[in-house]
Amino acid sequence: MECIGFIGLGIMGSPMSQHLLKAGYPLIVLDRVSELQKAIVAAGAQSGASPQRIAEQSDIVITMLPDTPDVEQVIAGKDGVFDGARAGMLIIDMSTIAPIAAKKLAREAEARGTDFLDAPVSGGDIGAQKGTLSIMAGGKESAFARALPIFQAMGKTILRIGDSAAGQITKAANQIMAAINLEATCEALVFAAKAGVDPMLVRQALMGGAAYSRSLEFHGQRILDRNFVPGFRLRLHRKDLDIALATGKAYGIALPVTAQVREMMTNALGEGQGDLDNSSLVMLLERLVDKQAKQ
Ligand code: NAD
Repeated sequence: MECIGFIGLGIMGSPMSQHLLKAGYPLIVLDRVSELQKAIVAAGAQSGASPQRIAEQSDIVITMLPDTPDVEQVIAGKDGVFDGARAGMLIIDMSTIAPIAAKKLAREAEARGTDFLDAPVSGGDIGAQKGTLSIMAGGKESAFARALPIFQAMGKTILRIGDSAAGQITKAANQIMAAINLEATCEALVFAAKAGVDPMLVRQALMGGAAYSRSLEFHGQRILDRNFVPGFRLRLHRKDLDIALATGKAYGIALPVTAQVREMMTNALGEGQGDLDNSSLVMLLERLVDKQAKQ
């Protein structure tokens, strides 16, 4: 089996790398938080020293990092993956980053004789834990075929969407829908509660009808439980809407409602909610409603 280097062992990367270990892949892991790295090493992985060293030791390198600059630094920066890459290697970025950056990294990789796939995921922390992620890839067909058994260890719905960056465009579309659905869940539950009916029963009723959404199911439950421990950090969702809006601007595509939800998220970040779950967006709405009530 090919040796895999895995960089970024956060909420998503930790369970994803555990699935690769379970599937029998030799694994070398790295995270700047040493406790996260130690946990996967304790489960059977080898400890990585730097992105460059990991690339030298692996056939395939996977990154699962927060944002575009993190991925650019780890792959193309000093002592990065490119510095240790050789012809025939495959680099797979599974983070959510700007499509334009994914395309640039793919071009740079190609110039070194290395394949590059953008393969962001959807399904959240639960999908990562259960190994049921949706994986949307962009890049060469031959690279996708090589990566497929690895993707199958971590996901269920696995598609090559098209050439380089097609995966990131798909993920941006996903995040537009996820954000608008989240805002809808927040508004509906705050509306019901403030109008004097039980939001738990409202969610139950809506779940069985045309308004059902995954957001209503999972975010709705979190909101009722007041459980804002991050499955998906609010700051990362705002980052994804920035990516969608910048991509929309580049293609001349208006995204008016996405822009509004992005503003709501920015306000919530200003209130210190960046590292809470994205469902904590509801607190912003509650504050708005309370403020209006006092006027
Ligand atoms: P996270 O913040 O929990 O994890 C990111 C990890 O990367 C952290 O452990 C951090 O220490 C590590 N890291 C950052 N810079 C590093 C560096 N230079 N070297 C080594 N390690 C470094 O984030 P997450 O929720 O796991 O998300 C990862 C990516 O997946 C993001 O792009 C996010 O948008 C996307 N995503 C998240 C979810 C979700 O529900 N959490 C779902 C789908 C996609």
